[in-house]
Amino acid sequence: MSRPAKSILVWFRLDLRLDDNPVLTRAVETGRPVIPCFVWSPEDEGAWAPGCASRWWLHRSLDALGESLRERGSRLVLRRGEAGRVVPDLVRETGATAVYWNRRYEPWAVGRDGAIKRRLIKEGIEVKRFNGCLLYEPHAVRNKSGGPYKVFTPFWKACLQRETPEPLGLGDTRLRSPNRWPSSPGLDAFALEPRANRAAEFPHWWSPGEAGARERLERFWESGLADYATERDFPARDGVSRLSPHLRFGEIGPRRLVAKAGSGSGADAFLRELGWREFACHLLYHFPETTDKPLRPEFAEFRWRQDKPGWSAWTRGRTGYPIVDAGMRQLWRTGWLHNRVRMTVGSFLVKDLLIPWRDGARWFWDTLVDADLANNTLGWQWVAGCGADAAPYFRIFNPVLQGRKFDPRGEYVRRWVPELKLVPDKWIQNPWQAPNTVLEEAGVVLGRDYPRPIVDHAEGRRRALKAYDLIKGSSGAAGA
Ligand SMILES: Cc1cc2nc3c(=O)[nH]c(=O)nc-3n(C[C@H](O)[C@H](O)[C@H](O)COP(=O)(O)OP(=O)(O)OC[C@H]3O[C@@H](n4cnc5c(N)ncnc54)[C@H](O)[C@@H]3O)c2cc1C
Repeated sequence: MSRPAKSILVWFRLDLRLDDNPVLTRAVETGRPVIPCFVWSPEDEGAWAPGCASRWWLHRSLDALGESLRERGSRLVLRRGEAGRVVPDLVRETGATAVYWNRRYEPWAVGRDGAIKRRLIKEGIEVKRFNGCLLYEPHAVRNKSGGPYKVFTPFWKACLQRETPEPLGLGDTRLRSPNRWPSSPGLDAFALEPRANRAAEFPHWWSPGEAGARERLERFWESGLADYATERDFPARDGVSRLSPHLRFGEIGPRRLVAKAGSGSGADAFLRELGWREFACHLLYHFPETTDKPLRPEFAEFRWRQDKPGWSAWTRGRTGYPIVDAGMRQLWRTGWLHNRVRMTVGSFLVKDLLIPWRDGARWFWDTLVDADLANNTLGWQWVAGCGADAAPYFRIFNPVLQGRKFDPRGEYVRRWVPELKLVPDKWIQNPWQAPNTVLEEAGVVLGRDYPRPIVDHAEGRRRALKAYDLIKGSSGAAGA
């Protein structure tokens, strides 16, 4: 009688897909039985455990992955608890002789996974790790002196000189099952779903899962990619891919995007944005403290303000600056925000209100369906001027000018701030400066239907520059 084949535990993490997934392809190629599993371990992630919007997404993405695995004759085994305990337990329980996973690069994951790897190897278990979510892993890209990059352009140039990795197909292979499946609770046991109504509109905007990612990709490829370079800055238009949550949960991988993108100005501009994603991960890996501390040390002394009313107005989209309010309301209702508007609302919080960037990062962490520790940290440090290759602190976004330039007809503002629907284009970004007759005709009473600005931008800007002078000793202010 032949001995049962030695199975491989395939530990899914932020790679919730079958296509172009090295961990799965390589396990299947061995011909051995495969036990796919997912461990919900928020305690491992500590302060950066997935926020409310991410948990909503994760629930659906796991559901979709489970279904795809069932179609291949397999299952997704779910477990809850610290991965350092749960994974070795599962190995013992199933008799698996190998564990495969794709690497993650968050500081908490690097330490945890290293410890799990050492422990399993000590117990005689084979461990294999792969690159599932990046084009170029952070430890593989080095500058001339062997250190990490801090500036995007040379980083991306160095990446582009490397071989572009090809996606891995799985074909329509069925997965070989173990003789006996370990038990698995239902997905509801993870209690990922947010409280009633919090995510009521999300299903209207999103289809989590690999099929949803593919659909989104096809749509963008047909109607958006060619004009991406010129359209990507206008939040009212359909000019960006909205692939970020799918990329975040690994429902699609960047190798697939590169293979499909081809060439042309739209494709080049799009790949450059994927380059920023790579750069963010590179920075987080090499400078893990930046989730909480500014990369530029002089900013440790920066004098932020406590401003409860300002914070409340910002989070609720009631600052009196239409583009900021439109953004904050879109974020709350859909779990996503256009990059141009992320920069504008971020600048408003950090510079006009002088509220710490970390508070903004925390809010985004809870409200974004694409909340990603690397991208979010890079984005907020960029906005605050204290990170790598960041906007200089003295470049302060003027929310009215940003609105006029990138939402010239006010379509974006009207979509999310309907009380201003009838305000003419000329005043839609600055209604408080409109003549009374215009506001009357538009049916808007400021202070009743829509707030007056909570801070005068010119005054806020002066205050921010003064605070900056204290750490820098110079300003050289400029508007944008
Ligand atoms: C303050 C701030 C916070 C941010 N927080 C996050 C976050 O938590 N998660 C997140 O995925 N992105 C974050 N970004 C980056 C960017 O805004 C989003 O990736 C982008 O808006 C997502 O929309 P999209 O998929 O349509 O992007 P597209 O324009 O279609 O770009 C394609 C992909 O490239 C990547 N990308 C694009 N721009 C950037 C960028 N500036 N930095 C890093 N990667 C980028 C994303 O994976 C994106 O899906 C943040 C930006 C700022 C300014």
